[in-house]
Amino acid sequence: MTERFTGSFTQQEPIPPAGIAAANAVMQHGRLHRYNTVAGEVAETALLEVEFAASVGAQYCLAVASGGYAMTTALRACGVGHGDKVLTNAFTLAPVPGAIAAVGAFPVFVGVTEDLVIDLDDLAAKLDQARVLLLSHMRGHICDMRKLMQLCDAAGVTVIEDCAHTMGASWDGVPSGRWGRFGCYSTQTYKHINSGEGGLLISDDAEGMARAIMLSGSYMLFERHMAAPPPETFAQIKYETPNISGRMDNLRAAILRPQLQDLKTQCDRWNALYDVVADGLRDVPGLRLPVRPAQESFVASSFQFLLLDWSSRAIADVIARCAARGVELKWFGGAEPTGFTSRYDSWRYAPSAPMPAADRILAGIVDMRLPLTFSVDDCALIARIIKAEVGAVWQNQAAGLHQAS
Ligand SMILES: *Cc1c(COP(=O)(O)O)cnc(C)c1O
Repeated sequence: MTERFTGSFTQQEPIPPAGIAAANAVMQHGRLHRYNTVAGEVAETALLEVEFAASVGAQYCLAVASGGYAMTTALRACGVGHGDKVLTNAFTLAPVPGAIAAVGAFPVFVGVTEDLVIDLDDLAAKLDQARVLLLSHMRGHICDMRKLMQLCDAAGVTVIEDCAHTMGASWDGVPSGRWGRFGCYSTQTYKHINSGEGGLLISDDAEGMARAIMLSGSYMLFERHMAAPPPETFAQIKYETPNISGRMDNLRAAILRPQLQDLKTQCDRWNALYDVVADGLRDVPGLRLPVRPAQESFVASSFQFLLLDWSSRAIADVIARCAARGVELKWFGGAEPTGFTSRYDSWRYAPSAPMPAADRILAGIVDMRLPLTFSVDDCALIARIIKAEVGAVWQNQAAGLHQAS
């Protein structure tokens, strides 16, 4: 009998009961706006900021409307504006170049390695083209952060980290988001904590965070922020900084606070699922798993493998065969951008010189979600299906059935 998987790759877990209760309490009192508080009350949003800052060891935190908003705010707070260039990953998702475009700037794309991290040699060669790097820890793969920071510091390039896929992760014991001037997180439904939409911005930089708080639409109520620089930091900045509203509300913050308490447990559960899939796909001919260095403490909310140098037809065949058995794989190499799949040459508003080395990698990346509604047994089954179908197509290729791409 041919095994088939029947689970949903897009079904998240419910909001924990404590989050539902806290959200109900906010709806009962009706003060959803973060600055709408009664005497002695601290808004859920302000509490979330304090707790998130403490969880990563940051001085300051700002809760905002989305991960994309966190990134545009960080870029603006670093002084990036019209016509500027910003270094970023060729392998990332649309909100990243979108954040750069939102401030009128242009991405300069940097290549990707076979281990799915930013190519540090390509970065070194391009550091003279921009003052800021918006580094995307795409799909939770973290590069050698010490080396990256050395390169960027030496060149005077400011680093902003996109941690949409690395909340809870670290490199060499230092949390992702704590290496650059700013760390940006998303709480969109498919990320590590879920409020539907939402974002968090962290920094130790008082001036940068004061700008970010003013930008987010704090009116002149910045003193109500607790994970914020002291009021005197705002003395000039409050006059100079436009209000570009993108605040988080108390309802979302209420839903997120209990999830933040559970984050470590959830990360361990993701990694247990990842291990099962990885074990099932080791030593499959033609299939490469990214190497994960000992310094990388990752959170595997998704799974990637490479079918490097396979023809497009053969990869499309693998995707179709797996789909027929209920396993939804995304292919970053597809000619047309579909679903969440995106790559630098899909973003025609941000033209790039061709990047043949990156193209070779991107063409072979296969991607899959690992929602926590999957069990260990589900993941073992998924791995068996992928292994069988990759194996079948590999044999067809060897027999010459898939020559032209
Ligand atoms: C989700 C995501 C973001 C932020 O997205 P929002 O939908 O704006 O919260 C940023 N970078 C990557 C790589 C993402 O996947």
